[in-house]
Amino acid sequence: MRHWLGLIIVAAALAAGPPASALELAGEVVQGGLVRGQAAPGSEVRLGDRRLRLDDQGRFLFGIGRDERGPLRLQLRRPDGRREIRELAVRQRRFAVQRIEGLPPRQVEPLPADLVKIKADQAKLNAARRLDSAEDGFASAPVWPALGPISGVFGSQRILNGKPRAPHRGLDVAAPSGTPVGAMAPGVVVVAVPDMYFTGGTVVIDHGHGLSSLYAHMSELRTEVGQRVTAGQMIGRVGATGRATGPHLHWGVFWFDQGLDPALLIGPMPDPLPARQPAVAAQGRR
Ligand SMILES: [Zn+2]
Repeated sequence: MRHWLGLIIVAAALAAGPPASALELAGEVVQGGLVRGQAAPGSEVRLGDRRLRLDDQGRFLFGIGRDERGPLRLQLRRPDGRREIRELAVRQRRFAVQRIEGLPPRQVEPLPADLVKIKADQAKLNAARRLDSAEDGFASAPVWPALGPISGVFGSQRILNGKPRAPHRGLDVAAPSGTPVGAMAPGVVVVAVPDMYFTGGTVVIDHGHGLSSLYAHMSELRTEVGQRVTAGQMIGRVGATGRATGPHLHWGVFWFDQGLDPALLIGPMPDPLPARQPAVAAQGRR
């Protein structure tokens, strides 16, 4: 009888599992991924050396770079001072190589005279990626900014006109010129430049806590810096400005300076697709 009682107690202890963690995480820890977290309000959370911003409900998030090897170290300090440390393994991905030919040579190897503009553009984008605002759009599930065939995926190693270039930090959606582009989530417009050298008509929206989204190659901007936008609100129109082989939206998502994979943050594109022909998918990328 005592024997059985002992077994029941052991079984009950196993069923209860380890003590409940004060840290809840949602989202896969994978290269290019975004993880959303929840801790007790007033907690302090650090990822490596970076202290993460928590909102008043204890919500936070962090992104994982394309080349992150892991493991990541997440440290929690509860309001009562108790600590918890988690080591997170990062799932490694293999990224494809994408070759694109037929770009204007100056778009692949800019002239010295173009470098001033390129540096000025980059300075604006970098400044936007340093923001750590209290905007709460980060907590919203993203919506597709435009619909159409995916003509370029995140992370691929780019070979442009035969020359190796930086990996693709975004998702390309092919759509006809003039198609409205909507904000992926609520936020504040922090960059709106009609003629960036590589990304053409470019808008960046700050969603708070280091999360931002970028919309490039637009033919027309329909917003300005400082404007507050809602999810899906039109910010511009699809175009082929900057370095592009055809009309498409280049959609980027960043956690600070780490480019994330938009496809990992959002569900499948709603049906029906406006066009599904492979011929269309082959056009419009970069
Ligand atoms: Zn692109």
